[in-house]
Amino acid sequence: MKKVLLILLAIVVVLVAVLLFNTFSFHSKQINADPVPLYKTDDAVIQRLSQSIQFKTISFQDSGKMDTAQFNGLHRFLKTSFPLIDSLLTLEKINNYSLLYKWQGSNPTLKPILLMAHQDVVPVDPLTLPGWAHPPFDGVIKDGFVFGRGALDIKSGITGEMEAVEYLLREGFKPERTVYLAYGHDEEIGGKEGAYQIAKHLQQQNVQLEFVIDEGGSIISGIVPGVEKPVAIIGIAEKGYVSLELTVEEEGGHSSMPPKQTAIGILSAAIAKLETHPFPTKMDGPGSVMFEYIGPEMAFGMRLVFANRWLFGPVIESQLDKKNSTRATMHTTTAATIFKSGEKENVLPIKASAVINFRIMPGDSIQGVINFVKQVLNDERIKIAKTNEFGDEPSFVSDTESESFKTVQKTTHQIFPDVLVAPYLVLGATDSKHYKNLTKNIFRFNPTRLEDADLKRIHGTDERVSIESYKGTISFYIQLIKNSNQ
Ligand SMILES: [Zn+2]
Repeated sequence: MKKVLLILLAIVVVLVAVLLFNTFSFHSKQINADPVPLYKTDDAVIQRLSQSIQFKTISFQDSGKMDTAQFNGLHRFLKTSFPLIDSLLTLEKINNYSLLYKWQGSNPTLKPILLMAHQDVVPVDPLTLPGWAHPPFDGVIKDGFVFGRGALDIKSGITGEMEAVEYLLREGFKPERTVYLAYGHDEEIGGKEGAYQIAKHLQQQNVQLEFVIDEGGSIISGIVPGVEKPVAIIGIAEKGYVSLELTVEEEGGHSSMPPKQTAIGILSAAIAKLETHPFPTKMDGPGSVMFEYIGPEMAFGMRLVFANRWLFGPVIESQLDKKNSTRATMHTTTAATIFKSGEKENVLPIKASAVINFRIMPGDSIQGVINFVKQVLNDERIKIAKTNEFGDEPSFVSDTESESFKTVQKTTHQIFPDVLVAPYLVLGATDSKHYKNLTKNIFRFNPTRLEDADLKRIHGTDERVSIESYKGTISFYIQLIKNSNQ
């Protein structure tokens, strides 16, 4: 008996020793960089952001509805607002409406960098208009904010980057490394006419890029429980996308003599089955790389948990499972989005169809999704087909040990000294996916400060950006270009 107790005690001692060892060797991944004061910008930068919002460069689902005059207006506005860029950079219009600026560097052996954003914005639902403090396309400047559709997503990216380049040109800065600015015009509907064409154009010239930086994460306060500091989340990967249509065809007939299961019943059961058979969770992928960066900054208890994920993995998993937004970082998601069947109340439908939208985890694939669905359903009555020929495979994962990531991270610490940096997995899709053949380093980060509650303004109601934050955005891009040239 005594021997058993001694063995148990020994096990406990070893376990505690391992937990503590892991906790104390769980070192901070934040970079110590000397802060750089914000670069001085005048109020004209705010006016220009406001003006850029006033062009209604809306992407409609039906691309035929595009108002080309608004895009041409924005182009003329950028030309006159940034005179040094206009005279010293080359501009190519790709597919008429997408913009590619090139700032030639002096050293051709250095790979260029490419700063992105997109010109288009999502429409404003007329039903939400009463919820807007100011009309969505007036670009009203008030109470320390610039209001309007695109203030966050992402006119402030275009003007922020262009202000930075204009500033550096005014200073007489000459880059060694070529800088591209690339602004597609249809990101909100997939980017096939814009960013995809820009990337193709660069590929035809055999351009290889050091890194690409596009929208994605931001600097968010109050996003991680137990972390006081704002966190700059930098997307190092994004999920893939595919929609499958499930179809069931049955004999129709009178509803007075129905079969045990109608087409609707068969399909409903199939969807229910998919919902109760989620894709396996992946706790070692880019969705959890964030823990490596956030964990060491937490109080002792949480640090111990994150430093010992081999033991506490299931606990962390069950916490992440509680919220839709965190659950989605752990696995490929399944969402039934369309269901169609039936014409008349007393007629058996001959067909039922549904569309299921999947967001694919890096490491999974479109074919993997199809195989999984077939295997789960295992029902020959259900036909499975992609809704369109393509879909997007998940992105590769950019290396956080690369010089490029460290440059972005260092720049963030310099301009926003109070924030923590953490890589993360982007759940939606960005235009940067089109650049996958041009670089190994794609970072999805919009250097703007947001409160957790601001997130729903993106694509939502009363979109706005704080003036203070926008000035930080401009400074970030100035410093990023400087740092990329060291
Ligand atoms: Zn966007």
